[in-house]
Amino acid sequence: MAQISLTFPDGNSRDFAKGVTPADVAAAIAPSLGKAAISASVDGRHYDLQWPIEADARIAIHTMKDDAQALELIRHDFAHVMARAVQKLWPEVKVTIGPVIENGWYYDFDREEPFTPEDLGLIEKEMKAIINERDPVRTEVWDRSRAIKHYVEKKEPFKVELIEAIPGDELLRMYWHGHWQDLCRGPHLQHTGQLPADAFKLMSVAGAYWRGDHTKKQLQRIYGVAFKNREDLKAHLTMLEEAAKRDHRKLGREMELFHLQEEAPGMVFWHPNGWTIYRLLQEYMGRRLRDAGYREIKTPQVVDRVLWERSGHWEAYRENMFIVEVDEEGAKEKRINALKPMNCPCHVQVYNQGLKSYRDLPLRLAEFGSCHRYESSGSMHGLMRVRGFTQDDAHIFCTEDQIESECANFIALLSSVYRDLGFDRFDIKLSTRPEVRIGSDATWDKVEGALTNAIAKLGLPYEINPGDGAFYGPKLDFKLTDAIGREWQCGTFQVDAQLPDRLGAEYVAEDGAKHMPYMLHRAILGSFERFIGILIENYAGRMPFWLAPRQVVVASIVSDADGYVDDVVAMLRKAGLRAEADTRNEKINYKVREHSVAKVPVILAIGMKEVAERTVSVRRLGETRTDTMSLSDAVSSFATEATPPDLV
Ligand code: ZN
Repeated sequence: MAQISLTFPDGNSRDFAKGVTPADVAAAIAPSLGKAAISASVDGRHYDLQWPIEADARIAIHTMKDDAQALELIRHDFAHVMARAVQKLWPEVKVTIGPVIENGWYYDFDREEPFTPEDLGLIEKEMKAIINERDPVRTEVWDRSRAIKHYVEKKEPFKVELIEAIPGDELLRMYWHGHWQDLCRGPHLQHTGQLPADAFKLMSVAGAYWRGDHTKKQLQRIYGVAFKNREDLKAHLTMLEEAAKRDHRKLGREMELFHLQEEAPGMVFWHPNGWTIYRLLQEYMGRRLRDAGYREIKTPQVVDRVLWERSGHWEAYRENMFIVEVDEEGAKEKRINALKPMNCPCHVQVYNQGLKSYRDLPLRLAEFGSCHRYESSGSMHGLMRVRGFTQDDAHIFCTEDQIESECANFIALLSSVYRDLGFDRFDIKLSTRPEVRIGSDATWDKVEGALTNAIAKLGLPYEINPGDGAFYGPKLDFKLTDAIGREWQCGTFQVDAQLPDRLGAEYVAEDGAKHMPYMLHRAILGSFERFIGILIENYAGRMPFWLAPRQVVVASIVSDADGYVDDVVAMLRKAGLRAEADTRNEKINYKVREHSVAKVPVILAIGMKEVAERTVSVRRLGETRTDTMSLSDAVSSFATEATPPDLV
């Protein structure tokens, strides 16, 4: 029998019969590994234990200790087990598709009435029973006609449609969990007993359309989450509860920061408190950029389609652009403009004014650029996903040799900004050259090398997303971690050798010839709207003192103190603090409660004792005790506390 050679992660190789399965390989290494195995990696591909290996390969056997593979399999097997449970409970329900998503999976079912919370309880119980049965998972490869015939007979029209949409005569893989069968690419676990029965939960139901098409039939979707063990599930559920308490839409109402309404979907109406945060953040970023050698510019909002055609956006991005048609005087046809969806082409226009020399580079042009993008209504979410937003955008025009130092400077600036804003942790992902790309391999080597050197110089860890770069250059993505462990992708740094070429940017080099500069697209916050959403949730509304829209409320206990209250407010304002008086005829406890809900960091309670002694009684948000301070000490101490972190 033909032999193949399999190489293990420790470098050792061993011969096996051609067609050996990873299950056999694992059992040959040790019977205990045979039992504990969940899948394999064969030449880097996630591989089912039952799939035959036909040629020499590198192999690694996975167990539940390998988080990434374990979670993928667990969530995928749960999707199948849930579908099996649903068809056991309601045999008339048709199945469609059920992919793995972040933290879990969903499955769409064809059923008239939505699933109720009671239904979810029944399904969970049935799923636990299936896990208890330890049903073996089995797989076979079928040809299309057999698969179609099978699903026609079983009256599963959605599966038939899915198979018919698969091109050519590709063979199809079938999976069985016990007797229950599904069309699936795999891989899967060995048997249902490998699923952690106490580490999953069905979370919610939603309406969904077959293949996302609104003209098609409405289906019933069930979402589930699953983890490796009960502790991880509990931590996730606690995080969700915490996230709900911190929801920026709820806090945005309570703190009177902003609102959204139907007449302008995805565009924010900022209220005075919210706009204060916005301006403070923008002023802070403006100072940081200026200090880092950026020059601030402002470019138009409405730009003729001609420029978007030249930049390539009209072709590639047209459906996300807001179009503005204007009847121009004397013109026969309407002039067609677009609201800018990004600032890049406009920045090249600024660069292109006047001949540039190598001495002008690097040129760093920054803009708090308002952009509009048409996002689908279903994808919008409070401040986190909007149609109108302002980026902390900048483009660096530079030579190839300057990319590394510009990248290092950018990452240093980004990490300092994140730290100032309360985020100590962030991750870097490097996306490298894709299959389809422009530019020579030598250039890609150099540019990717510049980015990795820059990161290495700062001593930061990073991950690589192979092949995920844009066709015109590699990019870095920066994800920060918030107070409850959620990750948010905010910063980007992208090398572009295409747009400067399309829009004719050039500079005169030392050799006297004209060359094309590189363009580095970069943002730290991403957009002000979304970043403020993240800040609100990170701080649960308790903004750092320098960013709090209302820093101090001075509240009278008795109306005879009103005059002194006004004096205190005036002194605080003179010291640059955002202070307000509350002299309403209400009980002090009522006032404290109300301002606490609005997350005012400091309340000064003023009674006749404070008036007589020219003191204030200081009460911090979330604390019950009060401190008495002299008025002048209080003012100077709050003024110090209010200094933005970059000015301390
Ligand atoms: Zn750009």
